[in-house]
Amino acid sequence: MPSWSNWSGSVVAETARLEAPADEAAVATLVREAAAAGTTVRVAGSGHSFVPVVPAAGAILSLDRLTGLLDSDPAACTATLYAGTKLHDATHLLWEHGLALPNQGDVDTQALAGAIATGTHGTGPAYGSISTRLVGVRLVTASGDLLDLDSADLLPALRVSLGLLGIMTRVTLACVPRYALRERVWQHPIDECLEQLEHTIASHDHYEFFWFPRSDIAESKALDPVDAEPETEDPPPLDGPGERVGWAHRIYPSVRKLRFNEMEYAVPAEAGPACFRAVRQRMKERHPKVGWPVEYRTLAADDAWLSPAFARATVTISVHQDAARPYREFFTDLEPIFRDFGGRPHWGKFHTSTRADLAAAYPRFEAFCALRREFDPAGRFLSPYLAGLFA
Ligand SMILES: Cc1cc2nc3c(=O)[nH]c(=O)nc-3n(C[C@H](O)[C@H](O)[C@H](O)COP(=O)(O)OP(=O)(O)OC[C@H]3O[C@@H](n4cnc5c(N)ncnc54)[C@H](O)[C@@H]3O)c2cc1C
Repeated sequence: MPSWSNWSGSVVAETARLEAPADEAAVATLVREAAAAGTTVRVAGSGHSFVPVVPAAGAILSLDRLTGLLDSDPAACTATLYAGTKLHDATHLLWEHGLALPNQGDVDTQALAGAIATGTHGTGPAYGSISTRLVGVRLVTASGDLLDLDSADLLPALRVSLGLLGIMTRVTLACVPRYALRERVWQHPIDECLEQLEHTIASHDHYEFFWFPRSDIAESKALDPVDAEPETEDPPPLDGPGERVGWAHRIYPSVRKLRFNEMEYAVPAEAGPACFRAVRQRMKERHPKVGWPVEYRTLAADDAWLSPAFARATVTISVHQDAARPYREFFTDLEPIFRDFGGRPHWGKFHTSTRADLAAAYPRFEAFCALRREFDPAGRFLSPYLAGLFA
């Protein structure tokens, strides 16, 4: 049997078929074949999720052959791309058409649909996740039909839907005119960082910090728009404190050479500092050997039913551990802290939340499950892991 694994190596699964369909009709055919065989089928993006949101026993599809920009409207600031396009390629294509995403996350190696499906986000209190930019989608449904959707009623359910409502083959995104950013990175003691936190967040478009537990130093990073066009097309990445200016799509992504596992919870923005302090204290008391940083970001409230930022201004806090080291005991020891602060897990990152936890944390969770049953009554897109949470 062919096998599939994710980026960090934490998920390895066998599947009957690994397929890379050449076009939308081929995706639909594969879904109909799965229906005829009574098996499951799911799509892999870039495998950058840390939990088993991809594997299916029947077939795992890659949309690596369904890539590229189909259409753009610079006046309306929208663009339609094939869903398998990697974020890196998508943002470069948008730039060529005078467009950009208003915000991006830490890397740009994910597939567009993969990033959208889990609510992948960057930082900035005025900015939502990439999923919030979704204004239209073409789905291959559980019956193997092609369905174009852009209704305001359904988009909030579709925006973060883990492939449970159908396979996205093309996505239309609300963009902004392309822009340049100034990046500034500096280091300071964590206590000083926390004292200034509210002011620093308010002073920048995109601010985040990484706390390094062994040195107690915070590395702060701020990105702000600049009016002038950048002088350098491809500014080299900063290796520590410093400054650089470049087009936004070249400034946002970092290069992550070391593999890791990650857990992230989204808490109400006002609870962010206290939650971080509690995490810091527990790490100092019980996990003094962990050297990987804790990341603190902000996120605007949005309307996506399964978004960790649904209906509330949000702070996200992520903890990391080397991919070669055990991580479960460390992560699960911190998880109750996040829950106490009203945390909602990132769908692509480690968590042990049960269906009951999720239903309590996400006000529209049961509405999503009901819609999922309507879209996919036979569970064509349900793996055992996802059935445990959504069936
Ligand atoms: C190095 C690294 C950095 C990261 N940085 C960030 C960050 O800054 N911010 C953040 O929020 N997250 C971040 N993540 C998490 C990551 O963005 C998410 O887990 C994202 O979903 C991964 O995208 P992917 O293309 O690899 O999708 P996968 O992990 O392959 O799939 C994710 C989900 O999307 C579904 N899916 C994929 N394609 C389709 C499709 N065509 N139609 C329907 N469903 C589909 C899959 O079935 C699965 O359920 C990071 C992860 C790593 C490893």
